[in-house]
Amino acid sequence: MSFSGEKTVKATRKRHVCIACNKFIEIGESAINWAGMTDGDFNSVYYHHECRAAEIGLNDLAGLRGDEWMGLSEADREDYPWLKAEHPIAYRRLLMTREQAAALKDTPVE
Ligand SMILES: [Zn+2]
Repeated sequence: MSFSGEKTVKATRKRHVCIACNKFIEIGESAINWAGMTDGDFNSVYYHHECRAAEIGLNDLAGLRGDEWMGLSEADREDYPWLKAEHPIAYRRLLMTREQAAALKDTPVE
């Protein structure tokens, strides 16, 4: 039997790495936890909310289903303008280094 599902974690208890943008999801941040079978193995991964939305959007755009699922990090360069327009937060994370993302987090948002 195959199963997969995702749930919202209101505040993570451990530091995770977002599977889509490869940046840290810090303790206490809200995240999406996706769990299911991929290639016969059980997997549990974490996403930033914006990154999950962008990845779903990307697969919808490409018309991919099930086993064809494409990760956000595998997006083609030609999809970047779309990503930037539709999912600017995820797009920015994707292009940043971990250091840049961490520095940005310390900057107060007005
Ligand atoms: Zn992310």
